[in-house]
This record gives sequence, C-alpha cells and structure tokens, in this order.
Amino acid sequence: MTKYEEIVNLALRRGLFYPASEIYASAPAGFYDYGPYGAAIKRKIVDVWRQELVQKEEMLEIDGAITMPKAVFKSSGHLASLVDPITECGGCHAIYRADQLLKEKTGKEYKEAMSEAELSAGLRKYKISCLKCKGKLSDVRKHSLMVKTPVGVGSKAVDCYLRPETCQSLFLDFARMTKTMRVKLPKGLAQVGRSFRNEISPRQTLLRQVEFLQMEAELFFDPEKINEVEKFKEVKDY
Ligand SMILES: [Zn+2]
Repeated sequence: MTKYEEIVNLALRRGLFYPASEIYASAPAGFYDYGPYGAAIKRKIVDVWRQELVQKEEMLEIDGAITMPKAVFKSSGHLASLVDPITECGGCHAIYRADQLLKEKTGKEYKEAMSEAELSAGLRKYKISCLKCKGKLSDVRKHSLMVKTPVGVGSKAVDCYLRPETCQSLFLDFARMTKTMRVKLPKGLAQVGRSFRNEISPRQTLLRQVEFLQMEAELFFDPEKINEVEKFKEVKDY
C-alpha cells in the first residue's frame, strides 16, 4: 500500500471524509462528505487563508452565488474552452481522454487543444483500441466540464451552470465594489466556496472531485502603473 493509500484509508476509518450518498449504489463518483474532524480541518485551512492572505493584503472578501446564467460563461470563455477531448469504447463504453491515451500509447506529444479530427486520426493511425476490452474506440468529441442546471419553470426556464471556479463573481462584482466600497487600485477581491467540474474520471479522492472547495483571489490594478504595485517584483517573472 502506498503512503497515499494509507492516508486515505486512515481518513476513511476515522471519518475525516467519505463518499457522499454512499448508501446508494447510484451515487456518482467525485463527491465527498466531510465528517466532524474533516470539517474542522477544512475550516482551519480556510481561516489561515483568510488571515494570511485576505486580511494581511487588505482584500475584500465576497460570497457569490454558485449558480450563474449561461451568458456569464459564454463571456468568460469557459463554455468553449473548458472541454476535454474524449473517446468512448463501442464495446464496454469505457471513456478515455483521447490526448492522454495517445500520449500514453505512443510516447508522442498530444495536446488537449488539438482538434477532434487530429486526435481521431491519431487513434486510427496507431490502431489504438480500448485498454479494457480491446473494443473499437469512437471518433473523438469534446466533453464540457461544465455542470448544467435549468433554473425557472417551463418555458421561462433559463439555462444556468454551476461555476467551474470561484473567480467569475470576483470579476462580475468588481464594478459594484468600486462604488460601494470606494475601491482604490490596486485592490484584491477574494472568495471561498464550492466549484463544480464534470470530470471524466474523478479520482485521487479529494484531489480531483466534481464538487470541490476553492479559495481564490484576483488582484485588480492599473496596467499603466503596475510597477508601483508593491510586491509585483516578487511575482513578475513567475
Ligand atoms: Zn472497452
């Protein structure tokens, strides 16, 4: 057993965290509940983030909505770019990330940003079949990692999505902050909260979940005066 597996087993035994809705077989992978110790540790980590980053850097912390309309993610580019190229086995219906499968089988560099046609051609060229049953793999298609949810009733329903990261409301609310909080640049906005990504294969317990907690900050500054931002030197070649 690896160190990682030992830690996960210990966490499960002591109830730090465990699969959500675990008594139902239909519960999807990638969701975890935190037990009392896990919840306390998580709270402590957030407290340290708040003290050491948000408060020390005098950032404004907000608490934005998780569900946002399609227009937000169309503007941010998430609908177009937060996609993984996937291929599905015609036999056992196993799903693979096409770029990763190609890289693994050929040792060549395949990127997720490559077109579906290029990746499909790669699968055919190297005669790659399903790792589990040797079945034929489908043409590559793009899978959106966004979790969609309709909000509203009947014909009035609006297409919404659960945020895939916490930055959106930091950007959307900035204009309001400049009015209500008398923001002077540079200024950081921060928030902590749940985000959602419809991962093809949620794994490594808390490291790749569908629903996860994020702590995020965005620093707003005047690009003409970036050199006046204290600490910019520390990160400019990062
Ligand atoms: Zn298969």
